[in-house]
Formats: sequence, C-alpha cells, structure tokens
Amino acid sequence: MPSFPFSSTSPSRLKRVLLAFLLALCVAALAACGNKENTPAAKEGQIKITTTVGMITDVVEQVGGEHVKVTGLMKAGVDPHLYKASQGDIQKLDEADVIFYNGLHLEGKMVEIFEKMAKKKTTVAVSDDIDHSTLRTGAENGMDTEYDPHIWFNVKHWMKATETIRETLVKFDPDHADDYKKNAEAYLAQLKQLDEEVAEQIKTIPEGSRVLVTAHDAFGYFGDAYGMQVMGLQGMSTASEAGTKDVTDLRDFIVEHHIKAVFIESSVPRKAIDAVIQGAKEKGHQLEIGGELFSDAMGEEGTVEGTYIGMVRHNVNTIVKALK
Ligand code: ZN
Repeated sequence: MPSFPFSSTSPSRLKRVLLAFLLALCVAALAACGNKENTPAAKEGQIKITTTVGMITDVVEQVGGEHVKVTGLMKAGVDPHLYKASQGDIQKLDEADVIFYNGLHLEGKMVEIFEKMAKKKTTVAVSDDIDHSTLRTGAENGMDTEYDPHIWFNVKHWMKATETIRETLVKFDPDHADDYKKNAEAYLAQLKQLDEEVAEQIKTIPEGSRVLVTAHDAFGYFGDAYGMQVMGLQGMSTASEAGTKDVTDLRDFIVEHHIKAVFIESSVPRKAIDAVIQGAKEKGHQLEIGGELFSDAMGEEGTVEGTYIGMVRHNVNTIVKALK
C-alpha cells in the first residue's frame, strides 16, 4: 500500500533542511572571511582616488601602489582644456576619498567642481608646490590663463608634482607612509634619469636646428628646459585672414632657418600644416612632417606611450629623429 510519508515526517524534515541551509550559510560566511583576496571587501582597504589627465593617473598609481584604486577621467586623445565633466564623472569625484588634478586652469571647465569638492574632501592640484615664479605666464605666451598649465613637459616640474602626490598620500594614509615614500623615491629616480636623458638627446640635434614647430601651445616648458625654440601654429586653425599671414611668416622663418620638419598632434588640423609645407616647397624648401607628438593626453592605455615616461620618450625620439 502506498503510504504518505510527507504527512507524518514533514515537520522534522523541514527542520533538517533549515538546519542544513543555515550551516551552509555559516560555511559560506567563514570562507568569505578567510579568503579576502578574492572578495570585493578586500578592496575596501584601498584609497579611492579620482584624477583628471592620464599623466597624473600614472604618477598616482606609481606612488600609491597597492594601497590605491585610481580612476582617471580623461583617456587617450582627450583635450583637457575643453573637457566638461559628465554626470558619471561627478559621481566618480563624489565617491573618491582623494582627488588630484593639474590646476593652473588646465581643466578650465572643471574649476568650480574642484572648488566644491575641496570643501568636503582632500582635493589637490599637483602644480601647487611648484615655485610659481618659475612658471611661464599665460599672457606672454598667447594664452588666456594666468600661467601656462603644461608643466609635465619639464620633467623637473613633474618631479615636484610627484612629491606633492607623495606628501598628500602620506598625510591622508599615515599607516602606509613608508610604502608611499619608497615608491616615490624609486619613481623620482626614474624621472631624474629621464630628465638627463632628454637633455642629452636634444643636444644631439645641431644647434641651429633645435626648433620645434607644432600646432599647439603645449611645448613651452619643454623648450625652456631643454634648449629648443618653440613655434606654435595655434590660432591658425581658425582659418582667418590673419591665419594666412601666420602661415606666410612661419614659412619664411622655416625657410630662413633651414628647418627640416614640423610636428602634428591628433587634435591639430592638417590643413594649416599642409599650407606651411606647400608654402615652403614653393620657396624650394623641402619640409616634412616629423611625426605625431603627445601633448595633453598620453597614448592608449596598456602601450608604452600610455605612461608618462613612455610619452616623453616617444616625443623626444620623434623630435630627434626628424631634426638631427
Ligand atoms: Zn594644451
């Protein structure tokens, strides 16, 4: 005869199932505790840092090491001067423990956001500790900012920025001060070597040929630090009548000084540079495009040029190869 086992055993069976379920929960909880590396909870120990340009993101990662989780807002090819924070960016800034930006109005459209953030959390411009009397003024260099913000092209300025990042992390997270100091020391040694390397490399270009013609205003500090005259095409992109005169003036300068090459950036209209090249050709002067330089954004993430040191090396190698 068929029996009805459930009718009589159900209550105790239910208890057993519940007990087994609770046991399983406990085991899972214990496993989670003993296996921190694989759980999101482990990341809670890290300082959440949000940065703007890639050059800063790179340095913060170098100095912060395993203790930081860095989120960079501006990726390869992005122009920081025109960058406007999206709703997602605001959230990333809101969620951060610490914010690093360049300052000197590089991120011109985000100034108010940084001012607001500074009231509630550690918000630091990496240019703050650089002796401002050594900075290029904007007005003298055709910019509408008080200072030229492109400080990373003098490696010594960027070393100072690295020290500012180190000091901020040491103060924010004193428990790991030794690690931040150690990481910064190692990175600063690399930057010191890079600085010397750039100076030596530029010296291999014949003195009369140390002229850097680009379409953007980013290389003033580079020119000052390493002994190159920098000529910008900026302003010509508006294709005005004055622009035509600029092309003629620049062409005459290039022909007169026997300059072999000019440089492009991804954000620069080719038209203006082509006009200069064509003009020089008509004067019997062979002018080439020396290559593409990284100015306000680094290369793609995961490539050598996607690091600050790699970006500077790429620029220097490109310049030397074309002008030597
Ligand atoms: Zn710029």
